[in-house]
Amino acid sequence: MISVIGGGAAGMMAAITAARNGGAVLLFEPNDKLGRKLRITGKGRCNVTNNSDVKTVVENCPVGGKFLYSALSRFTPSDAIVFFESLGVPLKTERGNRVFPESDNANDIADALAKEISRLGIQIACTKARKIHAENGSVTGVTAGGKFYAASSVIIAAGGVSYPATGSTGDGYALAKSLGHAIIEPRGSLVPLVSNDASCAEMMGLSLRNVAITVYDDSKKKIYSDFGELLFTHFGLSGPLILSASAHMRDLGVKPYTIEINLKPALSDGELDHRIQRDFSEFSNRDFQNSLAKLLPRLIIPVIVRRSGIDPTKKCNSITKEERAKLLALVRGFTVPITDARPVSEAIITSGGVDTKEINPTTMESKIVRGLYFAGEVINADAYTGGFNLQIAWSTGFAAGTHAGK
Ligand SMILES: Cc1cc2nc3c(=O)[nH]c(=O)nc-3n(C[C@H](O)[C@H](O)[C@H](O)COP(=O)(O)OP(=O)(O)OC[C@H]3O[C@@H](n4cnc5c(N)ncnc54)[C@H](O)[C@@H]3O)c2cc1C
Repeated sequence: MISVIGGGAAGMMAAITAARNGGAVLLFEPNDKLGRKLRITGKGRCNVTNNSDVKTVVENCPVGGKFLYSALSRFTPSDAIVFFESLGVPLKTERGNRVFPESDNANDIADALAKEISRLGIQIACTKARKIHAENGSVTGVTAGGKFYAASSVIIAAGGVSYPATGSTGDGYALAKSLGHAIIEPRGSLVPLVSNDASCAEMMGLSLRNVAITVYDDSKKKIYSDFGELLFTHFGLSGPLILSASAHMRDLGVKPYTIEINLKPALSDGELDHRIQRDFSEFSNRDFQNSLAKLLPRLIIPVIVRRSGIDPTKKCNSITKEERAKLLALVRGFTVPITDARPVSEAIITSGGVDTKEINPTTMESKIVRGLYFAGEVINADAYTGGFNLQIAWSTGFAAGTHAGK
């Protein structure tokens, strides 16, 4: 019997692969529905993979990329696309090679996997695996719900510790550790960012679209820049642009960072200055603080006015060229100091997990215990946004499922 612990993306792929190869499979999943996290991915649309080559996927994995190369080569993004389309889920490719179900419904992906699991006759034990037994360096079974289930192979696919309400509560780490595996301290990646700047809370709820950000580390080195949408919150910053940026900020909580927001990236300096001059001449008799409504969103205006150092009651027609230049620089580079990340429970991805040094990269088998395999987020490997994290789950699940039955 092949036991799979966790009915998420990786566990379902592993179970299907093992069963298709003729193995008898028992899947442990305490949630009443399989793939609970999968169902909320991509804002409910499920960015199921990234339609790119293996090299590109590896480049998008800041942790574990090299380790994943073999598994990704054996089950590529193209294989994932064929796999889901053959399960009856038509897919489409969007900007940045991001692949989604044509229906824009993540449930279609999870349901297709669940249906295949049922078609293959895979048994499901709706309970938590509590212990993995090993004797003489080989797995012998799993204890769950007070019962012992004999197994010749066990695949740990219990996920990380992000979004614990979906079932990923870190059990995979404890199970791996109990069998002698080293765990790299789990922490959040693709996570909202904390700022000690009170003006973030002042602007809470403000969502900025089509802005550009540049991230600087504590030595003022530029480490990342991107374009998109962000959100001010009571604690700091969130939104797609910020989650992506966080994956590049590997010393969050240890070192401070600065995010510089260009509020008008589509305008050149000359065009922006022209735009400001036009507003100032239109509102020439208004106070400076009441002249920015056409240029900027309402919630950011008091903050910009304060930071500019320009007297808020100064009439627009008496604002100097130097003051205008200050305003322009602020619109171009609105800085937010970043002091930390939100807790890992709020992160899209858990970075850290089972040390890849102790896993065979081709088979996903433990180098410590024979018959023990790993798949998905429980492994110390993670990627940027774009469908790469699910591709890791598919490829490692496929590798573990292929070899666990051999
Ligand atoms: C909001 C959100 C959006 C996301 N969007 C995307 C996206 O669009 N594209 C993308 O590539 N990635 C996305 N991700 C990341 C992606 O969801 C994960 O990388 C992926 O789900 C990891 O799969 P997994 O099977 O390893 O873990 P999980 O999906 O977390 O599954 C683990 C399963 O193990 C079960 N389990 C835990 N402990 C036990 C136990 N003791 N016994 C039995 N079962 C157990 C859990 O109940 C759970 O069902 C998103 C994540 C979040 C939180």
